[in-house]
Amino acid sequence: MIPFNKPYISGRETEYIADAVKRGKISGNGDYTKMCQNFFEERYGFPKTLLTTSCTDALEMCALLLDIAPGDEVILPSYTFVSTANAFALRGAKLVFADSRADQPNIDETEIEELITPKTKAIVIVHYAGVTCDMDAFRDICDRHDLVLIEDAAQAIDSYYLDVPLGSLGDLATFSFHETKNIISGEGGMLVINNELYKRKAEIVWEKGTNRAEFFRGEVDKYGWQDLGSSFLPSEITAAFLWAQLENIEDIQMRRLSLWEQYNDGLSAFPNRKFSRPIIPEYATKNGHLYYILCQDIETRTELIQYLKAHGIHAVFHYLSLHSSPYYADKHDGRVLPNSDRYTETLLRLPLYYELESVEKIVNAIRTFDEK
Ligand SMILES: *Cc1c(COP(=O)(O)O)cnc(C)c1O
Repeated sequence: MIPFNKPYISGRETEYIADAVKRGKISGNGDYTKMCQNFFEERYGFPKTLLTTSCTDALEMCALLLDIAPGDEVILPSYTFVSTANAFALRGAKLVFADSRADQPNIDETEIEELITPKTKAIVIVHYAGVTCDMDAFRDICDRHDLVLIEDAAQAIDSYYLDVPLGSLGDLATFSFHETKNIISGEGGMLVINNELYKRKAEIVWEKGTNRAEFFRGEVDKYGWQDLGSSFLPSEITAAFLWAQLENIEDIQMRRLSLWEQYNDGLSAFPNRKFSRPIIPEYATKNGHLYYILCQDIETRTELIQYLKAHGIHAVFHYLSLHSSPYYADKHDGRVLPNSDRYTETLLRLPLYYELESVEKIVNAIRTFDEK
């Protein structure tokens, strides 16, 4: 069976973990954490980064940084992972779900402004499959309405809007190093702080509401409770694992992009009668995070999953529209979001991981299914 995902291991993870243990500081914000944060700041020009225990946690930090409270509204896509929504719902925000674009699953920038009210505090966008949203449009909307822009860049490491790295255009951005992403640490994530306004507070929220980070740097002679916060830092063991991955980021990205292209070339070599391939806007790069196809309807997708399974291939779908989920359906304002529902029913993800060798076998299976 070709699995859907297999975590990439560079081979040096346990060596660096052993080293972290030997250094005698294994809680958070040690040498490996700083090495990883410096890496991201140098490679992508992020002004400030903080490693977190997950992208979910980084999103929860965003809600705390914005002082989200009951009465506030947050606009976000319905077609996304639950963490994008939970982070703000946990602080009592009203979630205003926006539809996806007709041509691809990213949030539709043309339908945002009609959702803005005096209570709107932030827009959270998701770069689905590592493909950027229309950042000029979102920056413009947020500037004109004085809203905070947050990028859920969980899937978007090493991807660009024109020549600008994703994660650097929102006021805040979040990344994931969960084992299903390109660069991993088991569970793990990162908050990027681009807006100066949140720099000091982010460090305080990260360190349980204290200014311990300033104390460690020798900037203050004692530390104490400054604000609301929680425990958002990963241990050095997690950071050491991540460091072993970052050393190989070029190789990982090259391999994943090559697999993405193999899928796209292979599938474009015959008429796609029962499905369509991803559309990448001109302003977007790819980062090989995931390859998906859109089946003509849910029945076709169910059949194709079964057909691939019978041929030893595990393909999966994901994201059930959040606006009609068991938890949120009766809180949603009733608007219909047809594109989000269409991706919920028709999107299929194909296996894509570093060690995958058999793209050809998968393409051939899809071709025979398509010709049936
Ligand atoms: C993976 C993912 C998350 C959650 O990341 P974790 O690190 O597992 O918390 C959030 N949003 C999106 C869009 C994701 O793909």
